[in-house]
Amino acid sequence: MAHHAHSAGDFGRRFWISLILTIPVLALSPAVQSLFGLEARMAFRGSLYVLLFFSTAIFFYGGWPFLSGLVGELKARLPGMMTLIGLAITVAWTYSAVVVLGVPGSIFFWELATLIDIMLLGHWIEARSVLGASRALDSLAALIPSVAHRKNPDGSIEDVPSTALSVNDLFIVLPGEKLPADGVIIEGETSIDESLLTGESVPVGKHAGDRVVAGSINMQGSFTARADRKRSESFVSKVIDLVRKAQASKSHTQDLADRAALWLTITALVSGGITLVSWLAVGAAFAYAIERTVTVMIITCPHALGLAIPLVVAVSTGLAARNGLLIRNRTAFEEARLIDAVVFDKTGTLTEGRFAVRAVVPFAKASEDDILSLAASVEARSEHPIAKGILKAATDHSLRVAEVTHFEAMKGVGVKGVVNGGQILVVSPGWLADNKVSYDAALVEPHYTQRRTVVFVVLNKALVGAIALGDSIRPEARAAINTLTAMGIKSILLTGDKKEIAEAVSKELGISEYYAELLPAQKVDAINKLKSRGLRVAMVGDGINDAPALATADVGIAVGAGTDIAIETADIVLVRSNPADVASVFTLARATYRKMFQNLFWATGYNVVAIPLAAGALASIGVVISPALGAVFMSVSTVIVAINARLLSIGTRAPRGPA
Ligand code: ADP
Ligand code: MG
Repeated sequence: MAHHAHSAGDFGRRFWISLILTIPVLALSPAVQSLFGLEARMAFRGSLYVLLFFSTAIFFYGGWPFLSGLVGELKARLPGMMTLIGLAITVAWTYSAVVVLGVPGSIFFWELATLIDIMLLGHWIEARSVLGASRALDSLAALIPSVAHRKNPDGSIEDVPSTALSVNDLFIVLPGEKLPADGVIIEGETSIDESLLTGESVPVGKHAGDRVVAGSINMQGSFTARADRKRSESFVSKVIDLVRKAQASKSHTQDLADRAALWLTITALVSGGITLVSWLAVGAAFAYAIERTVTVMIITCPHALGLAIPLVVAVSTGLAARNGLLIRNRTAFEEARLIDAVVFDKTGTLTEGRFAVRAVVPFAKASEDDILSLAASVEARSEHPIAKGILKAATDHSLRVAEVTHFEAMKGVGVKGVVNGGQILVVSPGWLADNKVSYDAALVEPHYTQRRTVVFVVLNKALVGAIALGDSIRPEARAAINTLTAMGIKSILLTGDKKEIAEAVSKELGISEYYAELLPAQKVDAINKLKSRGLRVAMVGDGINDAPALATADVGIAVGAGTDIAIETADIVLVRSNPADVASVFTLARATYRKMFQNLFWATGYNVVAIPLAAGALASIGVVISPALGAVFMSVSTVIVAINARLLSIGTRAPRGPA
């Protein structure tokens, strides 16, 4: 938009100077003088030239942003707001100047001056609110400190710009300092406040081996870390990039606003033309007809419309980011307001995704430790939460984790690999059923009733044992589901786990519909089936094996922005792994849409009344609007739109913790 080329400061300066220049214009204007009965004393011909001088100064200096905007829009063949304002002030100034130079008629310099003042004021206020809306992002960027204490290989410590830190450089962070880079702690212990990144308000304890991210605040300890990402690749930088791109991307509503602005411009030019011709046709003075025409063009100016949507977008994306909701796809976010059903992946989304081994069930002669050790050797290569649980149990029991070759992850099924020459599989009950492996179900049944996930260990095609793991339900999940229900959104559970587990989790959370024992591809089918029932579906998953399902759903929401895959696949990424944030997405999407709709009304609706008034439809009963008053109306509409956008809030957030 052309008018954004001028900064807030530039508009402010032009506004104040033009305002001062307006004082002599008002004092010298015949119309104003007659108002105070001063006409006789001041009316010397020379005063008109002084008036022309000041008005011309205002026209060129104060009107400059609009005149250059006019040229820009015409060059781009995109006539819009600047065309209208530029045209209106040019007509007013030229006509009045010609009259001063001797052509009979009347002048309206004071109208011109006040019109320009008000236009400048409106643009100034607008530029400032746009600035305010993008300030949220700048405050994110400012999280990364500019200086880092680098520890050189010779042991010396040197202060360098944080951009100069490269991968594998060591850096030291002192108490109270912000972290200059993403990395892993290699020495020291501390607690870190990651709230500005994740919204999680409690500082997190960190020690050697833990990952830390740039921009978080080191609370008390001091530590040395090894950078594992360049500054430009850091998590915060990615978030900022993401939000910038989302703010710049156009959505349906923005397209609608742009089209409306074009139509409003055309309406303004046409009604201006009709106004001029009609007044002349009924025999009005040329000056009077021109004044009405100028007023119509000013009042119809799609100024507020140019702001109505972008401002709401800027405020809502910033608000979302501050609440840990990263919007990647604006169109999908706008559609989120229409969602009927939310499909939740179980593991890591509704549950903590932190499995702990509760029992080992030997089937053959193998010992519990052997089973765990075999499984752990293969799982050492997997990123799945089940794998982490098994590995932890093995280390806790000081079991040997052997070397694995030919490792292969079977998504949604399990893992396989060769350990000490033996082929090992750690797989789901579904795999056993598919491969017709029979076993004594009575041995594992009790674990299902306790909501435990059971995986089976197969050695050289023979079933040797099972491992039962427990995962706790997130404390916020119940309240989140309740909030969604209250909003009229149905919750559905989808999982690769056993039916019994899915049923138990659904019951505990108040979810009425669930689908279990699904492979990743079947999750996609399940979503397509829901869609064919006419539901608009959002899918919430961890973004690793749920990627295809996230892509299939109308709105894909990934939890845990720590993983790059999540950032790549989803439309919306939740920084925290808190199910309550899912409800916030819909609340914000609805609130945002309401604001956009209100703003479109405030930006265009008033024209229905304003255009006829400005044209002089009620002139017979003495109601006429001067161009300056027209500018006041137009600016008020702009200011309402700006303030309305700033008032956007996430509203009542889902209550935290168990209800
Ligand atoms: P969810 O849909 O609950 O997120 P997944 O699709 O990740 O579950 O996994 C489905 C099932 O596949 C698990 O319940 C488990 O039985 C099995 N599975 C997946 N990955 C592994 C693994 N690394 N080790 C053992 N079993 C696994
Ligand atoms: Mg999962």
